Amino acid sequence: MNPFSYERPSDQQAALTLGARSGAKYLGGGTNLVDLMRETIEHPEMLVDVTGLSCAIEETDGGGLRIGAGVKNTAVAADRRVRERYPLLSEAILAGASAQIRNMATVGGNLLQRTRCGYFYDDAAHCNKRAPGTGCDAIDGFNRMHAILGASTACVATHPSDMAVALAALDALVTVEGHNGARDIPLIDFHVLPGETPQMETVLETGELITAVTLPPGLAGRSSYRKVRDRASYAFALISVAAALEVQDGVVKEVRIALGGVAHKPWRAKAAEAALKGGPATEAAFRAAAQAELASARGLRDNAFKIELGQRVITDTLVKLTALQEIR
Ligand SMILES: Cc1cc2nc3c(=O)[nH]c(=O)nc-3n(C[C@H](O)[C@H](O)[C@H](O)COP(=O)(O)OP(=O)(O)OC[C@H]3O[C@@H](n4cnc5c(N)ncnc54)[C@H](O)[C@@H]3O)c2cc1C
Repeated sequence: MNPFSYERPSDQQAALTLGARSGAKYLGGGTNLVDLMRETIEHPEMLVDVTGLSCAIEETDGGGLRIGAGVKNTAVAADRRVRERYPLLSEAILAGASAQIRNMATVGGNLLQRTRCGYFYDDAAHCNKRAPGTGCDAIDGFNRMHAILGASTACVATHPSDMAVALAALDALVTVEGHNGARDIPLIDFHVLPGETPQMETVLETGELITAVTLPPGLAGRSSYRKVRDRASYAFALISVAAALEVQDGVVKEVRIALGGVAHKPWRAKAAEAALKGGPATEAAFRAAAQAELASARGLRDNAFKIELGQRVITDTLVKLTALQEIR
């Protein structure tokens, strides 16, 4: 690990001033960044600890919730308002990592955690994300966990966050502060596809600080988060589905679907949503919508199974949400 300095600013303005310095990085719970420093993948010269800032969950005027970027993952998952109004978010967080890691990890850090592609962590491997222009060993390598949607010839890594997938389905906004002021970015536009520049993972500008995530008012109907993985705990998603569904008289009134484990960013399933809205809430319709969403998916040597798996998990999740509405 390289030498670095550590600062713990007492307010946001001081954090922004320090964060704008060359070589500075914000520090949340450190559960990803410190690992990357130990592995010499990241080498910040200064850590700006922001865990003491933006630590509240508050009601918004519009009936939603504003979750500070410094709130721990455990606190979000356990918050009664989150559990009652946004159960898929609570379920998504609890499906990730371990209790100890969730106790340390923050909302801001969770959004910015780096990919779990093994070639990114191996500095003997070619990786355009870690070392732009060197190639991608995952494309012809061991790629069971890798992307089937939106990948490029430069990178097939996936985004690992469970929480971010639920936030994508919820139409959450990410608030960021920089020296030019604050801006709200829809979560679904916050992370980007790899294209030719997989080292660029978000639309954040240098020195910008995530301060909050805002959830719009909760949806009517039912929602849930399903995560399929190789082990029952402590494993990243092969496929995950965050879904919210409102059915009236057998017709889909509102539906939101986002997928994890399939792309460089949380994947909002717009094609499936469009196919379902206003149509029958039947298993056949759910299956057809899932097929429409994954029509553009491309498998690699080890991960082509995810295409069928994704269709099955979307279909099954919607079938179960429909059944839950019927017994309400
Ligand atoms: C063994 C293990 C298993 C895991 N399993 C899962 C899993 O199944 N699912 C899952 O979703 N996650 C999993 N994780 C990842 C875990 O969720 C992340 O490590 C955690 O959410 C990162 O949060 P943090 O606060 O510790 O971030 P840090 O490690 O402190 O920071 C991560 C990044 O965010 C930046 N950052 C932090 N806060 C801010 C801010 N406010 N503004 C701007 N930049 C900021 C940092 O500079 C850094 O680049 C696992 C981690 C481990 C170690």
